[in-house]
Amino acid sequence: MSGYRGRFAPSPTGPLHIGSLVSALASWLDARAHRGAWIVRIEDVDGPRTVPGAADDILATLARFHMHSDEPPAWQSQRDEAYEAAFGRLQAAGFVYPCGCTRREIADSLLNTHMRHATLAYPGTCRDGLHGRAPRAWRLRVPNGVAARVSFVDRWQGAQSQDLATEVGDFVLKRADGQWAYQLAVVADDAEAGITHVVRGADLLDSTARQIYLQQRLGVATPAYLHVPLVTNDDGEKLSKQTGATALNLDDPLATISDAARYLGIGAVAVRTLDEFYSVATGEWAKRFCP
Ligand code: GLU
Repeated sequence: MSGYRGRFAPSPTGPLHIGSLVSALASWLDARAHRGAWIVRIEDVDGPRTVPGAADDILATLARFHMHSDEPPAWQSQRDEAYEAAFGRLQAAGFVYPCGCTRREIADSLLNTHMRHATLAYPGTCRDGLHGRAPRAWRLRVPNGVAARVSFVDRWQGAQSQDLATEVGDFVLKRADGQWAYQLAVVADDAEAGITHVVRGADLLDSTARQIYLQQRLGVATPAYLHVPLVTNDDGEKLSKQTGATALNLDDPLATISDAARYLGIGAVAVRTLDEFYSVATGEWAKRFCP
């Protein structure tokens, strides 16, 4: 095995659908093409959104496609101490501050500023104090000026750049309901698992600059990133249960995985078994993404 370590990190909010299967397949092919490890992480950090039984259902579905985690799956719900430790380091270094704003107040203050039509960047109301209010969430202070720009090259989407100050603002690490924010959890998890390559859906392209900035603040390595195009419904919305994703056909896994491969630009391959399919598809993937 090479030093490559990749992962598939589903949120257990429902069964796997074609969109999440495409992400799983892409991360699986990339790991195989690099002769690396592929690790499943169950992202159940968001307690309120987690659906009981969904994680086991996802693992069983992956197994139906012969995708098995090379290490025991990691569960975010068991990693509170790691998130507390990462948060503590950022806090000790002076990068974190409490925020007393409600969603409503943030929306209102954006309406009253020039930022109105730009983005929904947090305006920094609590940067210099809580103004007598109780702390609700905890935010990471992002820099101003040139230091706010984070750039990276995505292996599929090409050159990316985001100004954290104007496009995002100081972002939440610990939410008002006491839950850890996805951005902190994912960075702590990827770092601890030694993930070298992140392959996931393009809906997370916009989060990547925040994650890279957090990695820099924590002094951990930045993995390579590849974001695959999103599978959308006819209205152009990301597929989910709410937007009409139908259940995967598990009776014919070869046909279903071939469907998923088409979204990655891998056309019909004449094979009879899943394992043959993976070997051809890995070759196709390697030609494009492993120079
Ligand atoms: N849990 C996220 C999702 O299911 C993926 C996070 C990631 O791959 O970084 O959308």
